[in-house]
Amino acid sequence: MTLSIYKKNKEDLNPKPDENRLGFGQYFSDHMFTMIYKDGGWQQGKIEPYGNFSLDPAAMVLHYGQAIFEGLKAYRGKDGKIHFFRPKDNLSRFNRSASRMCMPEIDVDEVYAGIRALVEIEQDWVPSAQGATLYIRPTMIATEPALGVRPSREYIFFVILSPVGAYYPEGFNPVKIFVTDKYVRAVRGGVGEAKTAGNYAASIMAAIEAQEQGFTQVLWLDACDRKSIEEVGTMNIFFVIGDELITPPLSGSILPGITRDSVLKITREWGLNVVERNITIDEVMAASLDGSLKEVFGSGTAAIISPVGSLHYKDQEIVVNGGQTGELSQKLFDDLQAIQFGYKEDKNGWVDLL
Ligand SMILES: *Cc1c(COP(=O)(O)O)cnc(C)c1O
Repeated sequence: MTLSIYKKNKEDLNPKPDENRLGFGQYFSDHMFTMIYKDGGWQQGKIEPYGNFSLDPAAMVLHYGQAIFEGLKAYRGKDGKIHFFRPKDNLSRFNRSASRMCMPEIDVDEVYAGIRALVEIEQDWVPSAQGATLYIRPTMIATEPALGVRPSREYIFFVILSPVGAYYPEGFNPVKIFVTDKYVRAVRGGVGEAKTAGNYAASIMAAIEAQEQGFTQVLWLDACDRKSIEEVGTMNIFFVIGDELITPPLSGSILPGITRDSVLKITREWGLNVVERNITIDEVMAASLDGSLKEVFGSGTAAIISPVGSLHYKDQEIVVNGGQTGELSQKLFDDLQAIQFGYKEDKNGWVDLL
């Protein structure tokens, strides 16, 4: 793909934020990648200064919600180079989301080349502070100005970059989870397995109600019986019960996480007894009572691994592993980070250097 590149003048570049106070998604780099879909095809991609879009008020995304996104990271490796972690897996998942939402697919290789070119231009935005990374957000929205529910004929695809801090700057802080049986996130046959904007809009009310009661995250149950565990917030979830590591199967209503897949591969390499199977909240509560529930943790690109300290379901509160980070959670977090930052051999070919 030929790419047109319009760079800002040096004197117009934004000052870099303090790497030790990045937080998440607060700062954006100087340039973005954009590509327009029109007349049945994608036009040439562009790298241009980060800035506002001009959208027609009738743009279909504003009315009917065709919007999808991805989230991946670039890491400043031990070698000083920039490391991408499983980038093409994110772009392939983006295409599965596109297909589910009747949006056009992108060319994974061309878009990945565009992302590499963008990150190369923005390399000074890849932080070096411990645990800090450059979060990459590819997005596509429907832009055709038209009312009426049908697929848009025009789209804009874009990629923006945000330097983000270590998720746990002071070490792990196990999260308190509220298990909701009042709200549901997604239903089989719906769009739960697509990273589409509406899923997140739909989840906000449950998250706020949980936060008002002092919980950090919501654990979602299946939409039919409200018994089977689905996922937590924007992470997949794992349980250690007895000698089994259990995670719910990809049944159509949960997001097929790339971190989830990495955890499954690593723990299977370690020879653990790993199963993808249906698991109910009742089974988890019972396992807590009989002492067989050892650990619970979430997995996702932002936090990598998020240990769960307690679960609140109906009027019961169970504490997991004394509210402390479990051994496996810690080991997985350390291992994944070591692969991503290049401290450990990447046996699976997950890391791509810039
Ligand atoms: C993005 C996301 C995940 C985690 O996926 P990763 O590829 O591991 O980052 C899990 N659940 C939901 C709902 C998500 O949006």
